[in-house]
Amino acid sequence: MPKKLKPCEKCQTLATIRYRIQHDDTQKWWLVCPLCWEQLSKDNPYYRYGGTWKAK
Ligand SMILES: [Zn+2]
Repeated sequence: MPKKLKPCEKCQTLATIRYRIQHDDTQKWWLVCPLCWEQLSKDNPYYRYGGTWKAK
C-alpha cells in the first residue's frame, strides 16, 4: 500500500509525518511538516505540541 501523503498547512509540502502544533495566540492548531515545525517551535512562547500524524 502506498503511503498517503498530506500537505503541510504552512508550506504545502507533502509529508509522511506532520506535527500538530500551535504557534501563535489564535489557538489554531496547524499540521506542519518537520521543517516548519522546527522553525515555528524555535524560541516561540506560543508554541504548543499536540501530537504527531503519520502516513499509513
Ligand atoms: Zn511545512
